[in-house]
Amino acid sequence: MKTIKCKHCGKTIVVKHGNTKRCEPCKKIARDETSSSRYARISLEADPYWLNEKILRTYYGKEMDPDFLESEGFDFEKYREKIIIDGETVFAMKQFAFSINKNKTVRIWKQ
Ligand SMILES: [Zn+2]
Repeated sequence: MKTIKCKHCGKTIVVKHGNTKRCEPCKKIARDETSSSRYARISLEADPYWLNEKILRTYYGKEMDPDFLESEGFDFEKYREKIIIDGETVFAMKQFAFSINKNKTVRIWKQ
Protein backbone atom coordinates (compact mmCIF):
# COMPACT_ATOMS: atom_id res chain seq x y z
CA MET A 1 0.00 0.00 0.00
CA LYS A 2 1.35 3.37 -0.98
CA THR A 3 0.79 6.53 1.00
CA ILE A 4 1.48 10.14 0.11
CA LYS A 5 0.95 13.48 1.78
CA CYS A 6 -1.91 15.50 0.35
CA LYS A 7 -0.45 18.31 -1.75
CA HIS A 8 -3.02 20.71 -0.35
CA CYS A 9 -3.49 19.98 3.39
CA GLY A 10 -0.57 17.68 4.13
CA LYS A 11 -2.70 14.81 5.46
CA THR A 12 -1.29 11.34 4.83
CA ILE A 13 -3.52 9.42 2.47
CA VAL A 14 -3.48 5.97 0.93
CA VAL A 15 -3.27 6.17 -2.83
CA LYS A 16 -4.91 3.75 -5.20
CA HIS A 17 -4.01 5.62 -8.33
CA GLY A 18 -0.50 6.70 -9.17
CA ASN A 19 -1.59 10.20 -10.11
CA THR A 20 -3.40 11.05 -6.86
CA LYS A 21 -1.98 14.18 -5.27
CA ARG A 22 -4.76 15.30 -2.95
CA CYS A 23 -7.08 13.76 -0.36
CA GLU A 24 -10.78 13.53 -1.29
CA PRO A 25 -11.99 16.74 0.44
CA CYS A 26 -9.13 18.73 -1.10
CA LYS A 27 -9.81 17.17 -4.48
CA LYS A 28 -13.37 18.41 -4.27
CA ILE A 29 -12.23 21.93 -3.26
CA ALA A 30 -9.76 22.01 -6.14
CA ARG A 31 -12.47 20.86 -8.53
CA ASP A 32 -14.93 23.52 -7.32
CA GLU A 33 -12.28 26.23 -7.60
CA THR A 34 -11.42 25.15 -11.10
CA SER A 35 -15.02 25.13 -12.23
CA SER A 36 -15.83 28.50 -10.65
CA SER A 37 -12.73 30.14 -12.14
CA ARG A 38 -13.55 28.53 -15.48
CA TYR A 39 -17.06 29.90 -15.16
CA ALA A 40 -15.65 33.38 -14.43
CA ARG A 41 -13.33 33.18 -17.44
CA ILE A 42 -16.06 32.04 -19.82
CA SER A 43 -18.44 34.69 -18.48
CA LEU A 44 -15.83 37.41 -18.95
CA GLU A 45 -15.15 36.30 -22.51
CA ALA A 46 -18.84 36.51 -23.30
CA ASP A 47 -19.29 39.78 -21.44
CA PRO A 48 -16.21 41.81 -20.42
CA TYR A 49 -18.29 43.72 -17.86
CA TRP A 50 -19.67 40.65 -16.18
CA LEU A 51 -17.31 40.74 -13.20
CA ASN A 52 -17.71 44.49 -12.71
CA GLU A 53 -21.48 44.16 -12.73
CA LYS A 54 -21.33 41.21 -10.37
CA ILE A 55 -19.20 43.19 -7.90
CA LEU A 56 -21.46 46.25 -8.10
CA ARG A 57 -24.51 44.05 -7.57
CA THR A 58 -22.88 42.46 -4.53
CA TYR A 59 -22.07 45.79 -2.87
CA TYR A 60 -25.01 47.82 -4.15
CA GLY A 61 -26.33 50.16 -1.49
CA LYS A 62 -23.00 50.45 0.31
CA GLU A 63 -20.23 53.02 0.25
CA MET A 64 -17.17 51.17 -0.90
CA ASP A 65 -13.43 51.64 -0.74
CA PRO A 66 -12.16 51.73 -4.35
CA ASP A 67 -9.04 49.76 -3.40
CA PHE A 68 -11.22 47.03 -1.96
CA LEU A 69 -13.29 46.89 -5.15
CA GLU A 70 -10.11 46.59 -7.18
CA SER A 71 -8.90 43.78 -4.95
CA GLU A 72 -12.18 41.99 -5.73
CA GLY A 73 -11.34 42.27 -9.43
CA PHE A 74 -13.23 45.44 -10.27
CA ASP A 75 -11.76 47.21 -13.29
CA PHE A 76 -12.28 50.98 -13.17
CA GLU A 77 -10.59 51.34 -16.57
CA LYS A 78 -13.51 49.65 -18.29
CA TYR A 79 -15.73 52.67 -17.70
CA ARG A 80 -15.55 55.35 -20.35
CA GLU A 81 -19.05 56.73 -20.43
CA LYS A 82 -19.97 59.39 -17.95
CA ILE A 83 -23.38 60.71 -17.21
CA ILE A 84 -24.25 63.54 -14.89
CA ILE A 85 -26.99 62.85 -12.36
CA ASP A 86 -27.86 65.60 -9.87
CA GLY A 87 -24.52 67.26 -10.55
CA GLU A 88 -22.59 64.05 -9.89
CA THR A 89 -20.45 62.28 -12.44
CA VAL A 90 -21.71 58.72 -12.72
CA PHE A 91 -19.91 55.99 -14.62
CA ALA A 92 -22.46 53.68 -16.10
CA MET A 93 -22.13 50.47 -18.00
CA LYS A 94 -25.05 48.11 -17.79
CA GLN A 95 -27.47 47.64 -14.93
CA PHE A 96 -25.20 49.22 -12.34
CA ALA A 97 -23.19 52.41 -12.19
CA PHE A 98 -20.94 54.14 -9.74
CA SER A 99 -19.70 57.55 -8.73
CA ILE A 100 -16.77 58.64 -6.61
CA ASN A 101 -17.69 60.59 -3.49
CA LYS A 102 -15.68 63.55 -2.25
CA ASN A 103 -14.27 61.37 0.51
CA LYS A 104 -13.03 58.98 -2.25
CA THR A 105 -15.45 56.19 -1.47
CA VAL A 106 -17.42 54.62 -4.28
CA ARG A 107 -21.16 55.00 -4.40
CA ILE A 108 -23.00 52.32 -6.32
CA TRP A 109 -26.05 53.20 -8.40
CA LYS A 110 -28.64 51.06 -10.05
CA GLN A 111 -29.99 52.26 -13.40
ZN1 LIG B 1 -6.02 17.30 1.69
